[in-house]
Amino acid sequence: MDDQPQASRHVPIAGVIGWPIAHSRSPILHGHWLKRYGIAGHYIPVPVAPEDLAEVLRAMPRMGFVGANVTIPHKESVLALADVVTDRAALIGAANTLIFRPDGKIHADNTDGYGFIANIRQHQPDWVPDLGPAAVIGAGGAARAVVASLLESGVTELRITNRTRIRAEQIRSEFGAKVVVYDWAEAGNMLDGAMTVVNATSMGMEGKPALRIPLDALAPGTLATDLVYTPLMTPFLEEAQARGCHIVDGLGMLLHQAAPGFERWFGRRPEVDDELRRAVLA
Ligand code: NAP
Repeated sequence: MDDQPQASRHVPIAGVIGWPIAHSRSPILHGHWLKRYGIAGHYIPVPVAPEDLAEVLRAMPRMGFVGANVTIPHKESVLALADVVTDRAALIGAANTLIFRPDGKIHADNTDGYGFIANIRQHQPDWVPDLGPAAVIGAGGAARAVVASLLESGVTELRITNRTRIRAEQIRSEFGAKVVVYDWAEAGNMLDGAMTVVNATSMGMEGKPALRIPLDALAPGTLATDLVYTPLMTPFLEEAQARGCHIVDGLGMLLHQAAPGFERWFGRRPEVDDELRRAVLA
């Protein structure tokens, strides 16, 4: 006798929920993998207004959805609606990946930190997290995932600065004594001796001003990475490269953070390679 739940007998559907959602590259990314591995499944953008979030989340499993990615503005609010929240999602305070389990429970995880580290390891395999302090510029949602993953990777001193200082202080109070807060006006000093430097603000994005922090203290050989990926080569990365740093752009983080969800929903660990990068950039 078939005791599979109703939804799992059908072609699995996953999607990305956000408001607005038209800009999301996730459907291209997952669509590429589904096609490439010949998997019968669908991945679709689902526009969900904030006031509809709870209702839509409860309905999705009954509609055949096996899970979803979550983007702005729902990444924080889904935590209160999930039945199971992973420790790292709770620590970061946001989820980007949901799994609708056969028992009806909604499982919420955050794979942004995993994507961040996997991207660095893919492009700079010689990177050593505890070679020297790490410096994170920004203290928004993405920065919290970066901080969590750097500390988990073994960074022993994590320096952070943010225009709105209180958000950086909040990270220090939640993530502990390895975190050292620098004032925004002294952000350039934070780079002195740092071996890993991350732009986790939205500055440098198309249509936004470039990051204005002085980068004179960046030493050759430092790993510099940006979360912004439009453009791929941000002014921060350009200057870091000119100073002899090893640079890693932000697109790979987007690609890698998607892999655990795809594996859970569609049953195959997908590859993150140049073919995928080209598909997403096109
Ligand atoms: P967020 O929560 O809105 O945080 C934005 C951050 O940027 C805050 O630290 C904010 O400082 C800072 N900021 C914005 N405008 C600024 C300005 N004019 N001057 C100084 N600081 C400014 O956004 P988020 O979700 O953390 O995302 C941050 C960036 O990462 C975005 O560009 C996003 O697209 C990118 N991202 C990339 C990936 C990826 O996979 N590559 C994943 C997630 C996010 P205040 O606190 O002072 O406002």
